[in-house]
Amino acid sequence: SDEILQPEAAADDLAFEGALRPGSLAEFVGQQKVRRQLQLLLDAAQLQNRAPDHILLAGPPGLGKTTLAMIVAHEGERPLRMTSGPAIQHAGDLAAVLSSLVPGEVLFIDEIHRMARSAEEMLYLAMEDFRVDIMVGKGAGATSIPLELAPFTLVGATTRAGLLPNPLRDRFGFTAHLEFYEADELHRVIERASGLIGLQIESDALREIAGRSRGTPRIANRLLRRVRDYALVHGAAADHTAVSAALELYDVDEHGLDRLDRAVLSAIVERFDGGPVGLSTLAVTVGEEAETIESVVEPFLVRSGLVTRTPRGRVATPQGWRHLGRAAPGPQPS
Ligand code: ATP
Repeated sequence: SDEILQPEAAADDLAFEGALRPGSLAEFVGQQKVRRQLQLLLDAAQLQNRAPDHILLAGPPGLGKTTLAMIVAHEGERPLRMTSGPAIQHAGDLAAVLSSLVPGEVLFIDEIHRMARSAEEMLYLAMEDFRVDIMVGKGAGATSIPLELAPFTLVGATTRAGLLPNPLRDRFGFTAHLEFYEADELHRVIERASGLIGLQIESDALREIAGRSRGTPRIANRLLRRVRDYALVHGAAADHTAVSAALELYDVDEHGLDRLDRAVLSAIVERFDGGPVGLSTLAVTVGEEAETIESVVEPFLVRSGLVTRTPRGRVATPQGWRHLGRAAPGPQPS
């Protein structure tokens, strides 16, 4: 299935991920800059015996935002409340959560950019003054009653920091920008995970999985699971051969491209001679929504250096041609 490379969590990831989440900053692999930034922030709060500043975690799905929120709570030995933007449809939903926080609690709001506008405005005051104004009554008789809140630390997560209104973004003491992981970091993520699930796996097999995981720990862990399945069912060692066989079965190629990625790349190369080709033409050619191509397929192809975007459309790079086993055309004779 193509879902195997989706960076968003699927139902069967959840139990597995719970067991694999690192519990401390020291165990958290990679993101060294962010880890040091967070450590300083948490240490300072600890020394002053106060709740840490509000933290915004920005970055693509599956890179460890939820994990970091849990670590912030865990390191400070603070309780953690988890909710998400889509669950906060009205200011009242947020007021209910905020008013029930205990002092020092960490409130994690995933996908914070999807919260209702009215709740967003309530959150400004809550973050700044640990206070909300509750509106009671309607029309001319409406009054607002101020309500004191326990001091808390908000940890917001977003895949789209650009979508947050400035007043909200400005109220975070610190914004962590999570980056895609390097292959050696992913190697460590799955080495650790295979130890935790009791899988004996060879180092070149780990390297091979890391190279196909699109810079994303969630995907790396998921691919590891399919390799474990393969070794189990075939009574085989979890080695390089098992990785190749298992991931071929799931249409994940050696650079982590799936069927749709390859269909798009090969359309540009084979049908349009390397491009440029416009997004909508491309979408029709491969029979997919333009939106899917633009938000899911293209960013990875561009990041991998296989495709570039030009004002006139998408163009396959020489590396893109080579990925399909073809030589890029030389410069046109003049
Ligand atoms: P989403 O926003 O889609 O929920 P996320 O960024 O919150 O994604 P997490 O749920 O925190 O991602 O992480 C996904 C999985 O990857 C978890 O199983 C976690 O154990 C693992 N993981 C993420 N980052 C790391 C890391 N740095 N070291 C080890 N494991 C990690």
